[in-house]
Amino acid sequence: MTTFVLATHNAHKVDELRRILGDRLGDHELVAYDGPDAIEDADTFEGNALIKAREAFAHTGLPALADDSGIAVDALDGAPGILSARYAGTRDDGDNLRLLLQDLEGEPNRAARFVCAAALVDADGEYVVRGEWPGTVLTEAAGAGGFGYDPIFRPDGETRSAAELSPAEKDAASHRFRAFALLTAELRRRHG
Ligand code: IMP
Repeated sequence: MTTFVLATHNAHKVDELRRILGDRLGDHELVAYDGPDAIEDADTFEGNALIKAREAFAHTGLPALADDSGIAVDALDGAPGILSARYAGTRDDGDNLRLLLQDLEGEPNRAARFVCAAALVDADGEYVVRGEWPGTVLTEAAGAGGFGYDPIFRPDGETRSAAELSPAEKDAASHRFRAFALLTAELRRRHG
């Protein structure tokens, strides 16, 4: 059995990943690494996920996982992108979402995607993959579930916003699910 650390300050994220990884974790264990904040100064999701995983591996010596995620809007050349969490400058989900709606007022091209880069850093080296969940930015918020930009994001092939999906429905389709499904293949190669 291997213990993996997940570099996050968010206990909710550990639970979410335990759910997403589910059986894939096998006998392995996932615990939160809540060390000093790594400076996320890369200009890509992949770069920032690697920075966090590297830091956790360096401090614990345990195989470390990390993710970095956000929403990328085509008409805004990929913004808010890696700045998604602090787009409005307040770190408040409601403010971020309202600013994005304002940016897109009158914009006919509503195409966007949630993006998640998932990184693994251990003694075998660094590995990073990306999962994307394509969809459309709605013109107003709908639904009370999820977090972040979920109420204004309708995944392709859906009639509901991501905030109207059940947690299980979101877990089975999301960018985070897609990235960690890819990452677990490498995890199993390295740790069985
Ligand atoms: P982080 O990866 O926890 O830093 O998340 C970055 C930001 O991207 C969050 O604060 C949200 O604003 C946004 N985000 C990432 N994933 C999701 C999601 O699944 N739904 C809605 N917003 C998300």
